[in-house]
Amino acid sequence: MVGRIDKVIRADLCLGCGACTSADIVHCGASMTITSSGFLRPLFSRPLTAEEDAKAAALCPAARLELQPQAKVHPDWGPLIEVRTGWATDADVRFRGSSGGVLSALMIYLLESGRIHFVAHVAASESDPLASERRKSRTRSEILAGAGSRYGPAAAAGALHDLFASGERFAFVGKPCDVAALRAYVGPRAELHSQLVLAASFICAGVPSLHGTHDVLRALGTQPCEIARFHYRGNGWPGFTTAYTHDGRKLRMNYNRSWGHILGRRLQLRCKLCPDGTGEFADVVCGDAWYCKDGNPEFEERDGRSLLLTRTPCGEAAVLDAVAAGALTVGISSVSDISHMQPYQLSRKRVVLGRWLAASLRTGVWPRFRGLHLRPAMARGGWLPALRNAWGTFKRMSISNG
Ligand SMILES: Cc1cc2nc3c(=O)[nH]c(=O)nc-3n(C[C@H](O)[C@H](O)[C@H](O)COP(=O)(O)OP(=O)(O)OC[C@H]3O[C@@H](n4cnc5c(N)ncnc54)[C@H](O)[C@@H]3O)c2cc1C
Repeated sequence: MVGRIDKVIRADLCLGCGACTSADIVHCGASMTITSSGFLRPLFSRPLTAEEDAKAAALCPAARLELQPQAKVHPDWGPLIEVRTGWATDADVRFRGSSGGVLSALMIYLLESGRIHFVAHVAASESDPLASERRKSRTRSEILAGAGSRYGPAAAAGALHDLFASGERFAFVGKPCDVAALRAYVGPRAELHSQLVLAASFICAGVPSLHGTHDVLRALGTQPCEIARFHYRGNGWPGFTTAYTHDGRKLRMNYNRSWGHILGRRLQLRCKLCPDGTGEFADVVCGDAWYCKDGNPEFEERDGRSLLLTRTPCGEAAVLDAVAAGALTVGISSVSDISHMQPYQLSRKRVVLGRWLAASLRTGVWPRFRGLHLRPAMARGGWLPALRNAWGTFKRMSISNG
């Protein structure tokens, strides 16, 4: 019989988070590898047993997202305590961050105030500048090495057991799906709760294929083997996608072209079906607090500014403490600003049930989503867009399958 994890992978619905490869979940050799489509997928040395499959499926955010009820929940944006804009008070951190460097500044504050022993996040691999790898960062400079968005595959939720092995306290930064997998892992293990001090995420439109990165390099007139260093974002806001070649060239492309015309068109299928683009499982979430003109976000280079959502009392307390300590500077914002700054997130959430209806009929994978308020979101968006999206997804999936 085909297991649930196998079904998700075969249907191309895997998110590439890596949670199912944790060594205490599956007891065979398991790793994440880049496939021919340019995405990370789990590779198991043998078929999973029924017990392993059940344990892995309980963590898999592609097929299961169950959010515990929270006190204050916004119908479109999920659990919300406060909406702010903000940036790292330290100009260097602000500059190096993807938006306002808020995530890095918050992590540095938690570390330097002794609340955590390390930050679990991702950074560019030292051996392959185009790849991302998991890190346990224990210093300010290690945290800053991970600043900036990695618009390619990154299995931030791989090896979850390893994060807890030493008994140390830590904060986690990952995509919404990475954080959802972490929560599913920690939830039933009460003995681990005190070790996870903070789970932070960012607003996420989806993971582009590594082929997208290769396309960016091609457009810059170079190729992977020539690259010594590469970053997608950061060093300004939004910051240029920049490749440094072994022979000393510095090649760059603006955000509008790299994300808007190349990377954003290479997203993995499951991301287009994502009901949680805004990190509803996290304590704190950041995004781009774009300035808007005529209703559209502007991408001119400026001093960085993050949209900062706190979702839990613990997230709110961490932000207030970081502000009081002078690590973060915050400004006032409101819920209505989120829709202006993040129009794609609003429209996707409202049509995603329609897309899933089509995807489930096509693939036979019926995910379990709880606490994300998807039906009311669909009702607010109107049935017609949802039905149109269902039909569009159904047609596209038949073309790609056929
Ligand atoms: C794939 C992707 C899609 C995104 N889509 C949107 C969007 O639609 N709208 C929006 O407003 N913002 C989006 N962002 C987030 C945005 O680019 C910024 O990361 C966010 O605003 C936080 O900025 P910051 O300056 O506070 O974070 P920084 O201080 O730059 O810290 C960024 C943190 O994110 C971690 N990180 C970076 N890339 C990854 C990755 N691929 N997987 C896991 N962790 C990672 C780093 O390890 C680092 O700790 C996306 C980011 C990514 C990686």
